[in-house]
Parts: sequence; C-alpha cells; structure tokens
Amino acid sequence: MLIDLHLHSTFSDGTFTPGELVLQGRKLGISVLALTDHDTIAGLPEFRRACKKQRMACVSGIELSADFPGTLHILGYRIDSDDGGLEKALSRVQTGREDRNSAMIRKLGDLGMDITMEEVQKEAGGDIVGRPHMARILVKKGYVPDGSAAFSRFLQKGAPAYEDRFRLSPSECIDLIRRAGGVAVLAHPGQTSENAGELKKILSDLKKEGLWGLECITPKHRAEQCVEYLTLAAEFSLFPTAGSDFHGMNASSSMGISVADDFLPWARLGVRL
Ligand code: AMP
Ligand code: FE
Ligand code: FE
Ligand code: ZN
Repeated sequence: MLIDLHLHSTFSDGTFTPGELVLQGRKLGISVLALTDHDTIAGLPEFRRACKKQRMACVSGIELSADFPGTLHILGYRIDSDDGGLEKALSRVQTGREDRNSAMIRKLGDLGMDITMEEVQKEAGGDIVGRPHMARILVKKGYVPDGSAAFSRFLQKGAPAYEDRFRLSPSECIDLIRRAGGVAVLAHPGQTSENAGELKKILSDLKKEGLWGLECITPKHRAEQCVEYLTLAAEFSLFPTAGSDFHGMNASSSMGISVADDFLPWARLGVRL
C-alpha cells in the first residue's frame, strides 16, 4: 500500500493547504497520511476534517527542528493537539522565530534588498513564517534566480543575512511529543549525519531519551542509505517510517511511498486500516 507520513502544508512552508494535500493523496491512492508542519499544529483540524470527509486514515503530526550543530528534525505522531505543554513550548518557539525573522529582514535590508515583514507574512499566508518565504520574495523581486540561490547567498547558516533562532533541545522535543501522547521519530537521518559512526552515537543518545522511530524511507535518501537506516532501525529497536517531506509545487519530491501493509504498528498511530 501507499503511505506518506511526512507532509507540509501552507500552515508552514508547503504550498498545498491541508485539504489539498488530502485530495492529492486520495487521487494518488495513498492509504495513510500524516501532516507534519514545522513547529505548528494549527493545520491539524482542517487536515483531520478533510481526511474524515475523504474516508482516509490520518495521523496528527508535527516536525520540530531541534537545537543541534547541523540538522536534526524530530517528527511527532499521534500527538494530542490540546496538550497544554505542547502549546506552551510551540508558542516559545514561535516567539523566537518572529524575533529571528525581524533580524533577518533587517539584515537583508542592510544588504540592499527591498523586503518587508508584511510581504514575507503575506507570502507565508499561514501560521509559520520562515526562511523559505523570504526566499520566495527574493526570487519574485529578481534578487536571486531561484530559492536555492537565495539560501546559499543570503539565508543559510553562515550566509550574510542568517540569524539563529531559539530551538528546543532534541531531548526536549522527544519529551514534549511523548507527554502529548505521541511517538517521536528522527526525520531524514541522512541530513543529520552521513557518517555511520556519528549517526549511531546520536541514535543511541536519542533512544535513551525515548525516540520511537527512524524515518528510513524518504526520497531524500539514496537507495543504499534507506537500506543502511533500516538496518540501524533494527539495531536500535526503532520503528522504521516512510515519508516524502512533500512541500508542494516547485518541490523536488512527490507524495506517496510503497510499503507492506504491516509496515508499522498502525494501532499505536491511531490508524485502523
Ligand atoms: P526556518 O525554519 O524558517 O529556519 O526555515 C527552515 C526551512 O528552510 C527548512 O525546513 C527547509 O524547508 C528550508 N531550507 C533550509 N535550508 C535550505 C536550503 N539550503 N535550500 C533550500 N531550502 C532550505
Ligand atoms: Fe520545510
Ligand atoms: Fe525536515
Ligand atoms: Zn519536513
């Protein structure tokens, strides 16, 4: 069957609304979908409504960018959207994001670019405003040829307009997700480290903190990486998961990954097939 446990909507940096993601999933014949917007659960009510209407199995999710020298993203599945702790932590992250966005827009202005917070917010349209939206404005205004140039020249870590923002530690992310009744999964581990020894050390630490799964199958990994991560998941007793990290139009990946029906303990994720 086809599943996709890693999707972004307009509530973060995707270009499809939650409802459009569900319709697209339906069209492609996908059986289980999870919405995993960056740092927000605001899209989940619409997502759940759309899934119900289309009679599709859905998992309420989130993706948190943890504080780490490189990239370390933690997915949370079957989280309780009404959890007070989660709400409080997300609002702290959100404030840190707003402060960072202001600082970056100021820096872009100092570098000679005409870009305002209002424009970036309008481009974002949803709950989360971030660097991808700044990138789209820079492209629209002709300062850079494409989004990837926007990141490499201005927005990525170390580039002249970059500014750090407050992030939760990896253990805080895992704890938060677990306290909200969910399970925590390390997203696209290939982005965290391509060094097998280093990744093992990270997995061993995160497992102690309560990590539940490892996103082994994603178009962001080469085939041999998927195999490597499936082996690592078995070694660390983590459930392997699969997701496209679909961001919508103009994005590299498309939705849906083929897996066996018993790929995951669906009941734990609140899914009845
Ligand atoms: P933010 O959370 O606002 O700092 O933005 C992070 C998001 O920007 C990530 O989730 C990616 O979608 C995107 N991103 C980060 N680095 C790059 C890059 N080098 N090229 C394109 N997109 C990127
Ligand atoms: Fe993203
Ligand atoms: Fe991610
Ligand atoms: Zn993602």
